Amino acid sequence: MRQLVTSAPVARSVVARYVAGDGAADAVAVAGRLHGDGLLISLDHLGEDTRGARQADLATREYTTLLASLAAAGLTGGGAAEVSVKPTAVGLGLADHGEKTAAENISRICAAAREAGTTVTVDMEDHSHVDATLRIVRMVRGEFPDLGCVIQSQLRRSAADCAALAAPGSRVRLCKGAYNAPQEVAFTTRAEVDRSYARCLRALMRGDGYPMLATHDPRLIEIGAAQARLTGRGPADFEYQMLYGIRPAEQRRLAAGGARMRVYVPYGSDWYGYLVRRLAERPANLAFFARSLLTRS
Ligand SMILES: Cc1cc2nc3c(=O)[nH]c(=O)nc-3n(C[C@H](O)[C@H](O)[C@H](O)COP(=O)(O)OP(=O)(O)OC[C@H]3O[C@@H](n4cnc5c(N)ncnc54)[C@H](O)[C@@H]3O)c2cc1C
Repeated sequence: MRQLVTSAPVARSVVARYVAGDGAADAVAVAGRLHGDGLLISLDHLGEDTRGARQADLATREYTTLLASLAAAGLTGGGAAEVSVKPTAVGLGLADHGEKTAAENISRICAAAREAGTTVTVDMEDHSHVDATLRIVRMVRGEFPDLGCVIQSQLRRSAADCAALAAPGSRVRLCKGAYNAPQEVAFTTRAEVDRSYARCLRALMRGDGYPMLATHDPRLIEIGAAQARLTGRGPADFEYQMLYGIRPAEQRRLAAGGARMRVYVPYGSDWYGYLVRRLAERPANLAFFARSLLTRS
Protein backbone atom coordinates (compact mmCIF):
# COMPACT_ATOMS: atom_id res chain seq x y z
CA MET A 1 0.00 0.00 0.00
CA ARG A 2 2.78 2.37 0.99
CA GLN A 3 4.73 1.60 -2.20
CA LEU A 4 1.59 2.14 -4.31
CA VAL A 5 0.70 5.47 -2.71
CA THR A 6 4.21 6.93 -2.57
CA SER A 7 4.96 6.08 -6.21
CA ALA A 8 1.63 7.08 -7.78
CA PRO A 9 2.07 10.33 -9.76
CA VAL A 10 -1.35 11.55 -8.62
CA ALA A 11 -0.31 11.09 -4.96
CA ARG A 12 2.67 13.39 -5.56
CA SER A 13 0.45 16.18 -6.82
CA VAL A 14 -1.99 15.66 -3.94
CA VAL A 15 0.94 15.79 -1.51
CA ALA A 16 2.20 19.04 -3.01
CA ARG A 17 -1.15 20.61 -2.36
CA TYR A 18 -1.48 19.50 1.26
CA VAL A 19 2.14 19.47 2.43
CA ALA A 20 4.33 22.60 2.45
CA GLY A 21 7.49 20.83 1.25
CA ASP A 22 10.27 18.62 2.56
CA GLY A 23 12.27 21.04 4.68
CA ALA A 24 11.85 23.68 7.38
CA ALA A 25 12.75 26.42 4.87
CA ASP A 26 9.74 25.39 2.72
CA ALA A 27 7.51 25.46 5.79
CA VAL A 28 8.72 28.91 6.88
CA ALA A 29 8.18 30.24 3.34
CA VAL A 30 4.59 28.93 3.25
CA ALA A 31 3.97 30.31 6.75
CA GLY A 32 5.21 33.71 5.56
CA ARG A 33 2.80 33.69 2.63
CA LEU A 34 -0.17 32.66 4.79
CA HIS A 35 0.73 35.30 7.38
CA GLY A 36 0.78 37.87 4.60
CA ASP A 37 -2.81 36.85 3.83
CA GLY A 38 -3.89 37.56 7.41
CA LEU A 39 -3.88 33.91 8.51
CA LEU A 40 -2.39 32.29 11.62
CA ILE A 41 -0.35 29.11 11.25
CA SER A 42 0.45 25.90 13.11
CA LEU A 43 3.38 23.98 11.62
CA ASP A 44 3.60 20.22 11.94
CA HIS A 45 6.79 18.30 11.20
CA LEU A 46 5.52 15.06 9.66
CA GLY A 47 6.54 11.86 11.38
CA GLU A 48 5.01 9.59 13.99
CA ASP A 49 5.47 6.25 15.75
CA THR A 50 9.11 6.92 16.45
CA ARG A 51 10.74 3.73 17.71
CA GLY A 52 14.08 4.98 19.02
CA ALA A 53 15.16 7.62 21.55
CA ARG A 54 17.62 9.09 19.04
CA GLN A 55 14.90 9.58 16.44
CA ALA A 56 12.66 11.19 19.10
CA ASP A 57 15.52 13.53 19.97
CA LEU A 58 16.04 14.42 16.29
CA ALA A 59 12.32 15.19 15.91
CA THR A 60 12.53 17.44 18.98
CA ARG A 61 15.55 19.26 17.58
CA GLU A 62 13.73 19.75 14.29
CA TYR A 63 11.07 21.68 16.22
CA THR A 64 13.47 23.77 18.27
CA THR A 65 15.36 24.77 15.10
CA LEU A 66 12.10 25.46 13.28
CA LEU A 67 10.92 27.73 16.10
CA ALA A 68 14.16 29.72 15.93
CA SER A 69 13.72 30.09 12.15
CA LEU A 70 10.11 31.24 12.57
CA ALA A 71 11.21 33.84 15.12
CA ALA A 72 14.05 35.01 12.84
CA ALA A 73 11.50 35.41 10.02
CA GLY A 74 9.33 37.57 12.30
CA LEU A 75 6.46 35.08 12.25
CA THR A 76 6.02 34.28 15.93
CA GLY A 77 4.84 37.65 17.26
CA GLY A 78 1.54 37.28 19.14
CA GLY A 79 1.65 33.53 18.41
CA ALA A 80 1.01 34.13 14.69
CA ALA A 81 2.86 30.92 13.84
CA GLU A 82 3.02 28.13 16.41
CA VAL A 83 3.81 24.41 16.17
CA SER A 84 1.83 21.17 16.50
CA VAL A 85 3.58 18.08 17.86
CA LYS A 86 2.59 14.40 17.81
CA PRO A 87 3.52 12.67 21.08
CA THR A 88 4.57 9.48 19.25
CA ALA A 89 6.96 11.52 17.08
CA VAL A 90 8.85 12.60 20.19
CA GLY A 91 8.90 9.28 22.02
CA LEU A 92 5.49 8.28 23.43
CA GLY A 93 5.65 4.87 21.74
CA LEU A 94 9.12 3.97 23.03
CA ALA A 95 9.17 0.63 24.88
CA ASP A 96 11.15 2.10 27.78
CA HIS A 97 9.95 5.30 29.49
CA GLY A 98 7.98 6.44 26.43
CA GLU A 99 5.65 8.75 28.35
CA LYS A 100 8.49 10.33 30.30
CA THR A 101 10.58 10.83 27.15
CA ALA A 102 7.67 12.41 25.27
CA ALA A 103 6.90 14.73 28.22
CA GLU A 104 10.54 15.84 28.42
CA ASN A 105 10.79 16.41 24.69
CA ILE A 106 7.51 18.36 24.58
CA SER A 107 8.83 20.50 27.46
CA ARG A 108 11.99 21.21 25.43
CA ILE A 109 9.83 22.29 22.48
CA CYS A 110 7.70 24.47 24.79
CA ALA A 111 10.85 26.15 26.12
CA ALA A 112 11.97 26.91 22.54
CA ALA A 113 8.47 28.19 21.72
CA ARG A 114 8.49 30.49 24.76
CA GLU A 115 11.90 31.81 23.72
CA ALA A 116 10.47 32.43 20.22
CA GLY A 117 7.36 34.13 21.63
CA THR A 118 4.83 31.50 20.61
CA THR A 119 3.04 28.32 21.68
CA VAL A 120 2.82 24.56 21.13
CA THR A 121 -0.23 22.34 20.60
CA VAL A 122 -0.04 18.60 21.25
CA ASP A 123 -1.88 16.67 18.52
CA MET A 124 -4.12 13.77 19.53
CA GLU A 125 -3.42 10.41 17.93
CA ASP A 126 -4.95 6.95 18.20
CA HIS A 127 -7.50 6.47 21.04
CA SER A 128 -5.08 4.19 22.90
CA HIS A 129 -2.79 7.21 23.45
CA VAL A 130 -5.43 9.62 24.80
CA ASP A 131 -4.90 9.03 28.54
CA ALA A 132 -1.12 9.24 28.28
CA THR A 133 -1.33 12.35 26.06
CA LEU A 134 -3.65 14.15 28.50
CA ARG A 135 -1.38 13.19 31.41
CA ILE A 136 1.59 14.66 29.52
CA VAL A 137 -0.37 17.85 28.78
CA ARG A 138 -1.39 18.25 32.42
CA MET A 139 2.18 17.72 33.56
CA VAL A 140 3.86 20.05 31.04
CA ARG A 141 1.21 22.73 31.63
CA GLY A 142 2.61 23.03 35.16
CA GLU A 143 5.51 24.94 33.63
CA PHE A 144 3.97 25.95 30.29
CA PRO A 145 0.27 26.75 30.92
CA ASP A 146 -0.21 27.85 27.28
CA LEU A 147 0.42 24.32 25.95
CA GLY A 148 -2.57 23.42 23.78
CA CYS A 149 -4.17 19.99 23.42
CA VAL A 150 -6.64 18.28 21.09
CA ILE A 151 -9.94 16.56 21.75
CA GLN A 152 -11.58 14.29 19.15
CA SER A 153 -15.39 14.43 19.13
CA GLN A 154 -15.56 10.88 17.76
CA LEU A 155 -14.63 9.55 21.21
CA ARG A 156 -17.46 8.97 23.67
CA ARG A 157 -15.41 10.39 26.53
CA SER A 158 -14.77 13.74 24.83
CA ALA A 159 -17.63 15.92 26.15
CA ALA A 160 -16.46 15.10 29.69
CA ASP A 161 -12.84 15.80 28.70
CA CYS A 162 -13.88 19.17 27.24
CA ALA A 163 -15.73 20.14 30.40
CA ALA A 164 -12.67 19.21 32.46
CA LEU A 165 -10.33 21.12 30.17
CA ALA A 166 -12.37 24.33 29.86
CA ALA A 167 -10.34 26.11 32.55
CA PRO A 168 -8.87 29.63 32.36
CA GLY A 169 -6.08 29.90 29.79
CA SER A 170 -6.59 26.35 28.54
CA ARG A 171 -6.11 26.12 24.77
CA VAL A 172 -8.16 23.22 23.37
CA ARG A 173 -8.42 22.27 19.71
CA LEU A 174 -11.62 20.40 18.91
CA CYS A 175 -11.62 18.11 15.86
CA LYS A 176 -13.72 15.14 14.75
CA GLY A 177 -10.82 12.67 14.89
CA ALA A 178 -8.85 11.06 12.07
CA TYR A 179 -8.12 7.62 13.54
CA ASN A 180 -10.23 4.50 13.47
CA ALA A 181 -11.51 3.52 16.91
CA PRO A 182 -13.75 0.65 18.11
CA GLN A 183 -17.37 1.40 18.89
CA GLU A 184 -16.86 0.69 22.62
CA VAL A 185 -14.94 3.97 22.79
CA ALA A 186 -16.06 5.87 19.68
CA PHE A 187 -19.17 7.02 17.88
CA THR A 188 -19.30 5.34 14.53
CA THR A 189 -21.82 7.32 12.49
CA ARG A 190 -21.15 10.74 11.03
CA ALA A 191 -24.30 12.14 12.69
CA GLU A 192 -23.21 10.97 16.14
CA VAL A 193 -19.69 12.38 15.70
CA ASP A 194 -21.18 15.72 14.58
CA ARG A 195 -23.63 15.84 17.51
CA SER A 196 -20.77 15.07 19.86
CA TYR A 197 -18.76 17.89 18.23
CA ALA A 198 -21.62 20.31 18.96
CA ARG A 199 -21.77 19.14 22.62
CA CYS A 200 -18.00 19.47 23.03
CA LEU A 201 -18.10 22.87 21.37
CA ARG A 202 -20.77 24.07 23.80
CA ALA A 203 -18.71 22.91 26.79
CA LEU A 204 -15.62 24.71 25.51
CA MET A 205 -17.43 27.92 24.54
CA ARG A 206 -19.23 28.11 27.89
CA GLY A 207 -16.01 27.43 29.77
CA ASP A 208 -13.12 29.74 30.55
CA GLY A 209 -10.52 28.39 28.14
CA TYR A 210 -9.57 29.29 24.58
CA PRO A 211 -11.46 27.07 22.08
CA MET A 212 -9.85 26.23 18.73
CA LEU A 213 -12.44 24.89 16.29
CA ALA A 214 -10.65 22.58 13.86
CA THR A 215 -13.14 21.65 11.16
CA HIS A 216 -14.01 22.35 7.54
CA ASP A 217 -17.63 21.47 8.16
CA PRO A 218 -19.78 24.52 7.26
CA ARG A 219 -22.55 23.50 9.68
CA LEU A 220 -20.18 23.18 12.63
CA ILE A 221 -18.50 26.47 11.73
CA GLU A 222 -21.94 28.11 11.85
CA ILE A 223 -22.72 26.46 15.17
CA GLY A 224 -19.36 27.69 16.45
CA ALA A 225 -20.14 31.27 15.44
CA ALA A 226 -23.59 31.06 17.04
CA GLN A 227 -22.15 29.64 20.29
CA ALA A 228 -19.56 32.43 20.36
CA ARG A 229 -22.34 35.03 20.11
CA LEU A 230 -24.41 33.28 22.78
CA THR A 231 -21.52 33.07 25.21
CA GLY A 232 -20.38 36.64 24.59
CA ARG A 233 -17.05 35.69 23.02
CA GLY A 234 -15.46 38.22 20.70
CA PRO A 235 -13.24 37.40 17.71
CA ALA A 236 -10.13 37.34 19.92
CA ASP A 237 -11.62 34.78 22.32
CA PHE A 238 -11.54 31.70 20.07
CA GLU A 239 -10.19 30.64 16.69
CA TYR A 240 -11.03 28.50 13.68
CA GLN A 241 -8.49 26.05 12.31
CA MET A 242 -8.32 24.24 8.96
CA LEU A 243 -5.78 22.13 7.13
CA TYR A 244 -3.40 23.60 4.55
CA GLY A 245 -4.87 23.17 1.06
CA ILE A 246 -8.44 22.54 2.20
CA ARG A 247 -11.09 25.20 1.65
CA PRO A 248 -8.47 27.98 1.22
CA ALA A 249 -11.11 30.46 0.05
CA GLU A 250 -13.18 29.83 3.19
CA GLN A 251 -10.06 30.31 5.32
CA ARG A 252 -9.52 33.73 3.77
CA ARG A 253 -13.22 34.63 4.01
CA LEU A 254 -13.26 33.95 7.76
CA ALA A 255 -10.02 35.90 8.29
CA ALA A 256 -11.30 38.82 6.21
CA GLY A 257 -14.42 38.90 8.41
CA GLY A 258 -12.21 39.50 11.46
CA ALA A 259 -12.01 35.92 12.79
CA ARG A 260 -8.79 34.35 14.00
CA MET A 261 -8.18 31.64 11.41
CA ARG A 262 -5.25 29.26 11.83
CA VAL A 263 -3.99 26.98 9.07
CA TYR A 264 -2.36 23.67 10.05
CA VAL A 265 0.63 23.25 7.76
CA PRO A 266 2.44 19.90 7.63
CA TYR A 267 5.92 19.62 6.13
CA GLY A 268 8.59 16.95 5.83
CA SER A 269 9.26 13.89 3.73
CA ASP A 270 7.36 11.45 5.97
CA TRP A 271 3.96 12.43 4.57
CA TYR A 272 2.60 8.92 4.01
CA GLY A 273 0.73 8.52 7.33
CA TYR A 274 -0.79 12.00 7.04
CA LEU A 275 -2.05 11.39 3.52
CA VAL A 276 -3.25 7.85 4.14
CA ARG A 277 -5.33 8.88 7.16
CA ARG A 278 -7.37 10.93 4.74
CA LEU A 279 -7.18 8.86 1.58
CA ALA A 280 -7.41 5.30 2.87
CA GLU A 281 -8.63 5.05 6.46
CA ARG A 282 -12.01 6.69 6.02
CA PRO A 283 -14.12 6.56 2.89
CA ALA A 284 -15.64 9.93 3.82
CA ASN A 285 -12.22 11.49 3.76
CA LEU A 286 -11.38 9.96 0.40
CA ALA A 287 -14.37 11.83 -1.01
CA PHE A 288 -13.28 14.86 1.03
CA PHE A 289 -9.87 14.97 -0.68
CA ALA A 290 -11.22 14.11 -4.12
CA ARG A 291 -13.66 17.01 -3.81
CA SER A 292 -10.98 19.41 -2.69
CA LEU A 293 -8.93 18.56 -5.78
CA LEU A 294 -11.85 19.64 -7.94
CA THR A 295 -12.85 22.80 -6.10
CA ARG A 296 -11.08 25.54 -4.24
CA SER A 297 -14.28 26.72 -2.56
C1 LIG B 1 -6.29 22.22 12.26
C2 LIG B 1 -6.62 20.77 12.33
C3 LIG B 1 -5.93 19.97 13.23
C4 LIG B 1 -6.25 18.63 13.34
N1 LIG B 1 -5.63 17.87 14.31
C5 LIG B 1 -6.03 16.60 14.51
C6 LIG B 1 -5.53 15.82 15.60
O1 LIG B 1 -4.68 16.26 16.39
N2 LIG B 1 -6.00 14.56 15.73
C7 LIG B 1 -6.92 14.02 14.89
O2 LIG B 1 -7.33 12.88 15.09
N3 LIG B 1 -7.40 14.73 13.86
C8 LIG B 1 -6.98 16.00 13.64
N4 LIG B 1 -7.52 16.72 12.60
C9 LIG B 1 -8.31 16.03 11.55
C10 LIG B 1 -9.78 15.98 11.89
O3 LIG B 1 -9.99 15.11 12.99
C11 LIG B 1 -10.61 15.48 10.69
O4 LIG B 1 -10.21 14.20 10.31
C12 LIG B 1 -10.57 16.39 9.48
O5 LIG B 1 -10.45 17.73 9.84
C13 LIG B 1 -11.86 16.24 8.66
O6 LIG B 1 -12.97 16.56 9.47
P1 LIG B 1 -13.96 17.84 9.25
O7 LIG B 1 -14.30 18.33 10.62
O8 LIG B 1 -13.35 18.82 8.38
O9 LIG B 1 -15.24 17.19 8.72
P2 LIG B 1 -15.62 16.25 7.47
O10 LIG B 1 -16.80 15.52 7.95
O11 LIG B 1 -14.47 15.47 6.93
O12 LIG B 1 -16.01 17.30 6.40
C14 LIG B 1 -17.08 18.09 6.75
C15 LIG B 1 -17.60 18.87 5.64
O13 LIG B 1 -16.70 19.89 5.33
C16 LIG B 1 -16.91 20.27 4.01
N5 LIG B 1 -15.69 20.14 3.29
C17 LIG B 1 -14.64 19.43 3.65
N6 LIG B 1 -13.68 19.62 2.73
C18 LIG B 1 -14.17 20.41 1.79
C19 LIG B 1 -13.66 20.95 0.60
N7 LIG B 1 -12.43 20.71 0.19
N8 LIG B 1 -14.41 21.74 -0.13
C20 LIG B 1 -15.64 22.02 0.24
N9 LIG B 1 -16.19 21.54 1.38
C21 LIG B 1 -15.46 20.75 2.14
C22 LIG B 1 -17.96 19.37 3.45
O14 LIG B 1 -19.20 19.98 3.60
C23 LIG B 1 -17.86 18.16 4.35
O15 LIG B 1 -19.03 17.42 4.34
C24 LIG B 1 -7.24 18.07 12.50
C25 LIG B 1 -7.93 18.89 11.61
C26 LIG B 1 -7.65 20.22 11.52
C27 LIG B 1 -8.44 21.06 10.59
